Amino acid sequence: MADNSSDIAADQSFSMEGYDMDTLVQHAGQSADVWCTDSALVPPIMTSTTFRLPGVGELGDFVYARLGNPTRNAFEKCIASLESAKHGLAFSSGVTAQFCVASLVKAGEHIISGNDLYGGSTAQLKHMSNKYNIETSFVDCRKSENFAAAIKPNTKMIWIETPTNPGLRLADIAAIAEIAHNNGAFLCVDNTFSSPYFQKPLKLGADAVMSSVTKYINGHSDVLLGTVCTNNDEINEELRSFQKLIGAVPSPFDCYLANRGVKTLPLRMEKHQENAIAVAKALAENPRVEKVLYPGLPSHPQHDLAKKQMTGFSGMISIWIKGGLDEVKIFFKNLKIFALSVSLGGNQSLAESPATLNHGGVTEEERAEVGITVNLIRLSIGLESSSDLIEDLENALKAAIPEV
Ligand SMILES: *Cc1c(COP(=O)(O)O)cnc(C)c1O
Repeated sequence: MADNSSDIAADQSFSMEGYDMDTLVQHAGQSADVWCTDSALVPPIMTSTTFRLPGVGELGDFVYARLGNPTRNAFEKCIASLESAKHGLAFSSGVTAQFCVASLVKAGEHIISGNDLYGGSTAQLKHMSNKYNIETSFVDCRKSENFAAAIKPNTKMIWIETPTNPGLRLADIAAIAEIAHNNGAFLCVDNTFSSPYFQKPLKLGADAVMSSVTKYINGHSDVLLGTVCTNNDEINEELRSFQKLIGAVPSPFDCYLANRGVKTLPLRMEKHQENAIAVAKALAENPRVEKVLYPGLPSHPQHDLAKKQMTGFSGMISIWIKGGLDEVKIFFKNLKIFALSVSLGGNQSLAESPATLNHGGVTEEERAEVGITVNLIRLSIGLESSSDLIEDLENALKAAIPEV
């Protein structure tokens, strides 16, 4: 695996510098003194909301659970090390993490973002624009020039997601970071689809990286949680104050689960990718499928950029089948292993229909522009056997489209 090492040790009792990600997920932030015991190998679920203070006017490492909690800190330190970041912050969900980052922008300032974001992200930016007098521009993220062209004197933040959901479009992180910095703005990248295992936006020049931990990082579809990592002290300070001011922090139990889930991130990402490559290749040859998009296939229009900025291609595939709504409905009825479910990045394979589901904040024209037509099916490839997954998809396709 190409460069997955961390060059910045997240604040740790011993230096984690230079260790591979497989080692970091096990050890970064996990030293027992971080969570107030001296010998346990696994962080406890620390439920105490308040902590004994050393003296009047003196603060200990922990004061009150909203500000910090040993279980949360262990996870925050671990995730920071994976992103090669100085600071890691956990929030109660991915959208909360995004909301806090977007709140670094003031009324009257301007945000440029990709036009093919996670539906909830677009909805949130539009909401902020309407409610808080923040200007927004949405551009096709595949051409970095589009961001340069959209810059205004009041542009404060560029927000990108790469690869995007569900168009699997890529944005050139290094090029867009340069555009942001040349114009006094900062860049935040939503790294949910690749996870830090396959992509390190901060190393490519981004100022902050956000992840919906709900997806690959936790990986077991049983925790809602979001993170932001950054090397920028000012951004960290402001985001810490949001944890304090709005209290949108994850519970100790969720932090415990996420900290446990991330331990197998490298193993899971390798298997997600191996399965996704096998499934994408099989579907590309299937006569019932009009088009397959997977950043790891040479047929993906931005495969070269994928190879340049990612060290792997993750487990998300978009396919367009030869049929309409009727065929799509029959296809889903006949799936046995894939569940018809939203979300992604979990151990089980999921399939969904973006045109009929989670794009509430997006208009019909906006959907068409990013390729969200009724025959689009998004697949989140899980950890099952790839031959069973291929058979499941082939059987459902045959049932939906008997004649080719
Ligand atoms: C799910 C998701 C989010 C939102 O995260 P939640 O944890 O559901 O709040 C943001 N971005 C992307 C790309 C996602 O897939």
